[in-house]
Amino acid sequence: MTGPAVVAADVTRTYALAGVSVPALRGVSLTVDDGDYLAITGTSGSGKSTLMHLLGGLDRPTSGRLVIGGRDVGTLSAPDLARLRNEVIGFVFQAFHLLPRTTARDNVALPLVYRGVGRRERRERATEVLDRVGLAHRLDHRPHQLSGGEQQRVAIARALVTGPSMLLADEPTGNLDSATGAAVLALLESLNAGGVAVVLVTHDREVAARARRQIVMRDGLIANAA
Ligand code: ADP
Ligand code: MG
Repeated sequence: MTGPAVVAADVTRTYALAGVSVPALRGVSLTVDDGDYLAITGTSGSGKSTLMHLLGGLDRPTSGRLVIGGRDVGTLSAPDLARLRNEVIGFVFQAFHLLPRTTARDNVALPLVYRGVGRRERRERATEVLDRVGLAHRLDHRPHQLSGGEQQRVAIARALVTGPSMLLADEPTGNLDSATGAAVLALLESLNAGGVAVVLVTHDREVAARARRQIVMRDGLIANAA
């Protein structure tokens, strides 16, 4: 990809909930460069997850301009946006979001189903990525047979299997003990060193300080940027 991974220009997002409008983002401008490593901190409710959903094309801004991988989201149909998301973005969530009755390998292979990749190649590629995250010995385990750290590594493998240029990780270590969290973070950093842009939401200031850049969210705005 050429150019920045994402450009957000004065984006807002207002949720409508039971007739009340909730202004979750009130005008955020942010560029995530190719290969960037950006940490987002801020109190609960400050708009971090809402911003992550926009950066990843899971949601659209209420106003403002959002360009992902060179494509203006406002001009894309829902299927085109879904395709763009599948091509350039990987998501990692605090709660892993793995399919419970599905093996590690099939969880990881799932994004390739949407791409029309055949079963044999899906399994090969899923196996390769699970090997990369240190789980070659856990291919046929189901999520409940894995530790929290292993489940998060499966989720990272699933995010990677499509070869994304950007990983969005929303409190990926929030459900892990500190040693396991440190290992997951080291994995994300090694992927960043390999050229994948990483945007990481964290509560931990020391973790945030390791990123190349930091922003702090407050009340739906960027309070400061470094
Ligand atoms: P953070 O991730 O920083 O904790 P969020 O982006 O999840 O913050 O939420 C920002 C604000 O938007 C909060 O006030 C939250 O209650 C509200 N909010 C988030 N998602 C929704 C939704 N789907 N519907 C209505 N309000 C929402
Ligand atoms: Mg959140």
